[in-house]
Amino acid sequence: MTSAENELYQEVVLEHKRAPRNFGHLTAPTHRAQGTNPSCGDRVAVELQLDGERVADIRFTGQGCAICMASTSMMTEAVKGRDLATAQALQQHFRAVLTGEEDPEGAPLGKLVSLAGVRQYPSRIKCALLGWHALMHAIGDNDGRPVSTEEGRP
Ligand code: ZN
Repeated sequence: MTSAENELYQEVVLEHKRAPRNFGHLTAPTHRAQGTNPSCGDRVAVELQLDGERVADIRFTGQGCAICMASTSMMTEAVKGRDLATAQALQQHFRAVLTGEEDPEGAPLGKLVSLAGVRQYPSRIKCALLGWHALMHAIGDNDGRPVSTEEGRP
């Protein structure tokens, strides 16, 4: 990672931690799920309002470290208004980049690529993925994988 990439990463994480997007509750969520990451103490709950195959609205609540909160905040921005297939594809690419299976250079991640720096810190990867795990759980497709290291129920 170059120092410019590192600076962007730090800046984006702090900015979203300071002012998380789509934070709070929906009045009438159609889907929801919680996720916990006991290794760090992160907890997030994701609420969705699906309109057919589209994420009409999304909110999240919870408490966690800067990386967890920033990543969940960016996740909500990335998937709001998109269809479920797009959200699932983003989640797969994001996870593949963080785990080193995919090169961030070529990954279709949009703004999320600024979180690629997390791959330098293996212990924080779970923090960055927690919101996405909760999202996948909420829409009922987590590929059979557990929603987190310790699953929470609403
Ligand atoms: Zn964390």
